[in-house]
Amino acid sequence: MKKVIGLTGGIACGKTTVSNILKKLGAFIIDADKISREVVKKGSPALREIASEFGDNYLLTNGELNRKKMGELVFSDSEALTKLNKITHPKIVAKIQNEIKWSKENSNYHVIIVDAALLIENNLTELVDEVWLVTASEHIQINRIMKRDSITEQEAKLRIDSQMTVEEKRKFACNIIDNSASLERLNKIVKSLWQEFK
Ligand code: ATP
Repeated sequence: MKKVIGLTGGIACGKTTVSNILKKLGAFIIDADKISREVVKKGSPALREIASEFGDNYLLTNGELNRKKMGELVFSDSEALTKLNKITHPKIVAKIQNEIKWSKENSNYHVIIVDAALLIENNLTELVDEVWLVTASEHIQINRIMKRDSITEQEAKLRIDSQMTVEEKRKFACNIIDNSASLERLNKIVKSLWQEFK
């Protein structure tokens, strides 16, 4: 029986790192972030809808989405975020469903991972059999964000505070992967989870 796991976690907790470990162990990875960028690629139906809803000034001169400008708008305007999600969400869900279907029917992979930062927030849990949550203490999360994105502690904290709390996310999770320690430790945790699961 092929199983579909939704992998999620707060900003910079280590989802991508866990996903890479699982890929090496033999899982098929569906990257929701990559899919969400694909659905709004230059010339796509979603991008045309975005331009007609928000205006052509949300496109760059080369016809691509101005992600920075769009991001700034939806970060500060929840109505705009709802409108944007209405355009993109169904297309993202359909693509993820297609990839799940394809990997179930046409591949030898037994474990399919849907790697999605907003798995819970965007109701993508309906697409998966169970949820694995990657966590890290807030202090470590802040340090990793500051280092990776070259931003201040205050900005890092703002990004964390704009997300659903880890306590809320825990309610959906079947497994919690604590990534507050070293990469070596994380590798061990994920490997033992994989062994148990297979
Ligand atoms: P986001 O959702 O914000 O894209 P993410 O949850 O996918 O992030 P990663 O990109 O995997 O997180 O990790 C965030 C940063 O922290 C990366 O620079 C990564 O190399 C680093 N990192 C992850 N785990 C560890 C660890 N155990 N020790 C040290 N650094 C780590």
